[in-house]
Amino acid sequence: MRLSVYFLPTLKENPAEAQIVSHRLMLRAGLVRQSAAGIYSWLPLGHRVLRKIEQIVREEQDAAGAQEMLMPTIQPAELWQESGRYDDYGKEMLRITDRHEREMLYGPTNEELITAIFRDNVKSYRDLPKILYHIQWKFRDEVRPRFGVMRGREFLMKDSYSFDIDYEGAKRSYDIMYRAYLKTFARMGLTAIPVRADSGAIGGDMSHEFQILAETGESVVYYDAAFEDLGKTGEVDIEAMRGLYAAAEEKHDPNAPNLPPPERLRTHRGIEVGHIFYFGTKYSTPMNATVAGPDGEPVVIEMGSYGIGVSRLVGAIIEASHDDAGIIWPESVAPFKVGLVNLKAGDGACDAASDDLYRVLSESGIEVLYDDRDERAGVKFNTMDLIGLPYQLVVGPKGLAAGHVELKNRRTGERQELSIESALARLTG
Ligand code: ATP
Ligand code: MG
Repeated sequence: MRLSVYFLPTLKENPAEAQIVSHRLMLRAGLVRQSAAGIYSWLPLGHRVLRKIEQIVREEQDAAGAQEMLMPTIQPAELWQESGRYDDYGKEMLRITDRHEREMLYGPTNEELITAIFRDNVKSYRDLPKILYHIQWKFRDEVRPRFGVMRGREFLMKDSYSFDIDYEGAKRSYDIMYRAYLKTFARMGLTAIPVRADSGAIGGDMSHEFQILAETGESVVYYDAAFEDLGKTGEVDIEAMRGLYAAAEEKHDPNAPNLPPPERLRTHRGIEVGHIFYFGTKYSTPMNATVAGPDGEPVVIEMGSYGIGVSRLVGAIIEASHDDAGIIWPESVAPFKVGLVNLKAGDGACDAASDDLYRVLSESGIEVLYDDRDERAGVKFNTMDLIGLPYQLVVGPKGLAAGHVELKNRRTGERQELSIESALARLTG
């Protein structure tokens, strides 16, 4: 993509309305624009990041055996009356009336709809277990939308739902998702701590929030320092991990048997990026979702739900990865891998070399944002640092005359003078 034609409205100044760094940087780097409180448009650069995150989530769900589908954003009120949540949900639910005076709503979540689909289409225990998911916009009329996309009113969520014949099966499904979540967040360069959370009336250890440590998080978590290393790989022994202490503030228990010694007990603010939850027959009982068991008798299905805040993750990743100059994208979610900077647009040699690099890199499948604008070098460097692409490849007249270009690593700040061939090899290798 050539920057001269790309729609990338960056801002020099910090927008007054943004209180936290990710929100400031998302506005300044031209990722999003607010259309109403807690409702955002995703501009091309931000949209690319959102899609990358969504794709990682999708790949790990698919790898775990979950099946993707797509449910609508608008749901009929009847389903929520069946489960009893229509009144309970309160003001967070955006209620709509259609032209025939039918009560509808913009889905804040999908337990009711998926339970109805399942109930109407699955008849036998032989069709279990199943995990179904979709990635769809939700609306919750939050009292205090804030921090940009981190607490929006409209937000993109991946929500999965598991269906099993008994508790043992439900526990297996839960563990499959627990593992998939660790892998998902590790692929985004995040250390997510699975924190024991409130599982309501059902109890047990079958509810975890996945928390990213960040000063600006809205939650407080207590955890064993051992998590700081474990979370990094995404390949961990889940039994060992679940034995380690990690609790949300309201669940913190100074007398817990697995509480680590004081020097290993950490407390930190966290951003909740995912939540997995076993709820048994909470919806299947009132909605009468049963299948025929082995003896032909109806069995009420056991369910769980598993959410990931896809749009919140864009902000959470920035909170975890930035510096004073701007965003530092982990390569897996970066909107482009390379920012190609032509320091002297209009100069024959610089243009020829840059155009050539752009073509060769693009043909090798590398995503390149090519700054071919007629701007001062300082402006170009600032833009590149702000938008945070993992690599900057700088082509200038002096370097070219000496036969080299400069490759900068955005995260480490390391710069290397390389021949064009070596730079290409480095980026495509
Ligand atoms: P929170 O405590 O942050 O309000 P929640 O418990 O209401 O979260 P869930 O219903 O479990 O969240 O939703 C699944 C995921 O969706 C959350 O883990 C979070 O990442 C994301 N999410 C929830 N509410 C919002 C929101 N208002 N804006 C952006 N993402 C959200
Ligand atoms: Mg909430």
